[in-house]
Amino acid sequence: MIRAAQDGNQQAQDALVAEYLPLVYNIVGRALNGHADVDDVVQETMLRVLGGLDGLRGPETFRSWLVAITMNQIRGHWRERASGAIPAGGGLADAYDVVDPGADFVDLTITRLGLSGQRRETAEATRWLDEDDRALLSLWWLESAGELTRAEVAEALELSPQHAAVRVQRMKAQLETARVVVRALSANPPCGGLRQITAGWDGVPSALWRKRLARHARGCSVCEGHWSNLVPAEGLLVGLGLVPVGAVLAGLVLPPDLVEVGSASAVSGASGDGSSGQVSARAQARRDRARRRRRT
Ligand SMILES: [Zn+2]
Repeated sequence: MIRAAQDGNQQAQDALVAEYLPLVYNIVGRALNGHADVDDVVQETMLRVLGGLDGLRGPETFRSWLVAITMNQIRGHWRERASGAIPAGGGLADAYDVVDPGADFVDLTITRLGLSGQRRETAEATRWLDEDDRALLSLWWLESAGELTRAEVAEALELSPQHAAVRVQRMKAQLETARVVVRALSANPPCGGLRQITAGWDGVPSALWRKRLARHARGCSVCEGHWSNLVPAEGLLVGLGLVPVGAVLAGLVLPPDLVEVGSASAVSGASGDGSSGQVSARAQARRDRARRRRRT
């Protein structure tokens, strides 16, 4: 399939996109957690992959090459945003552009994969990670789930396996702290001391509040118990699978015949998106645009 796609076979290229779209979507979705630009970054990544197939060394290196391109696109998105070309998350422009503000990637992960208990807690904790840690998490999550190898993760990060291991270790420590924060905030009955601290909090996860709440949980006799019985996250993620691609995104990058076949479950599960005529018209326009660009 990869060789045929390299030779310019349109059907093989469509099939390649259909097969790897969920992987790219899961990396970008988790790294950017529901930012309105997730679909754009995924679409741009797939276009770059198709446009760069000539430069691929061998079909066996395809997946790591694909993941590296995906990470490049994510870093490019951050750079554009840092330069002011894209509004930062949480701004007014974002609120206007998000199709369904309630459904960030964490929510999708929980509902589509049916997570509960410590799995759910871990998914919620990812909201509290720093941005670059969340990009690392998105790869490591897929490694733990069995979708990527450590070698692929290291290559995508442009790090040696040893250095990647150190980074993963650090990120996991932050994730563990974030899980305790999630536990403390959802404890019932809530801790009185914690309620006092969070009285001035706007409810948006941030590094500052992660540190504040974690500091409280370390010194509070009510909350300190949250640090125990944390099942190692990699064990929780084994075999979790990929969050299916939503109908809107599938419509943006795939020909219609492949949308029906390739993501039937996603279409049936996506009750909140793709239902309005406006969205599908927009999707159609962008799909046409994408296919034109692909041919040039
Ligand atoms: Zn407390």
